[in-house]
Amino acid sequence: MRIGIMGGTFDPIHYGHLVTAEAAAEQFQLDTVLFVPAGQPPHKHARKVTDPWRRYYLTELAIQSNPRFCLSSIEIERSGMSYTIDTVRALQESYGPDADLYFITGADALLEIMTWHRIDELIRSCYFIAAYRPGYDPEELHRAIAEWQGRGGRFHLLEVPALAISSTDIRERRRQNRSIKYLLPEPVEQAIIANGDYQ
Ligand code: ATP
Ligand code: MG
Repeated sequence: MRIGIMGGTFDPIHYGHLVTAEAAAEQFQLDTVLFVPAGQPPHKHARKVTDPWRRYYLTELAIQSNPRFCLSSIEIERSGMSYTIDTVRALQESYGPDADLYFITGADALLEIMTWHRIDELIRSCYFIAAYRPGYDPEELHRAIAEWQGRGGRFHLLEVPALAISSTDIRERRRQNRSIKYLLPEPVEQAIIANGDYQ
């Protein structure tokens, strides 16, 4: 079994996340991609993050139509900060020793990895898929990866179609009453509008 883990704040989830997860599943023959919305993201306490179960629900709407995508509330149900190492360990335990875990992350997020909690333990605990967009200069990424490989990390690079979409931009658009159509799946867009999220 090969399991992809797509972590994120998903505030809200959008096509950038979904395209990346699908490309990773295809390229690395993943049986499942598990979306894991962060409970209390350690890197984002500067900003007030939307209620975790609301982000979870919107993520559920987004992945519903893809049989390969699943959703986990593991980080939401765990109290305190969401640390990736704890999540990877818990998932490895529940899937068993025959499962290979692939942590999927955007290049930007991967470069932040250096600052992550118990990083030496984390890089040895699963494979990493670093997604980057065409035109992205992978030099800095290559340098970081070379360093981590020397410390036992196993990395794969994945080029994904360019999608200049971010949750920040979607929230900003909502605040300005601008359209978020075609940036995320329609059921998610409808739910956000119906609930008045991000206004
Ligand atoms: P925010 O704008 O609030 O930071 P975000 O859009 O970056 O949100 P996150 O939940 O922070 O979304 O990202 C989760 C993961 O998805 C990260 O690994 C990030 O690198 C990746 N990601 C985010 N946007 C894209 C995109 N447009 N294309 C590919 N990967 C993306
Ligand atoms: Mg981000």
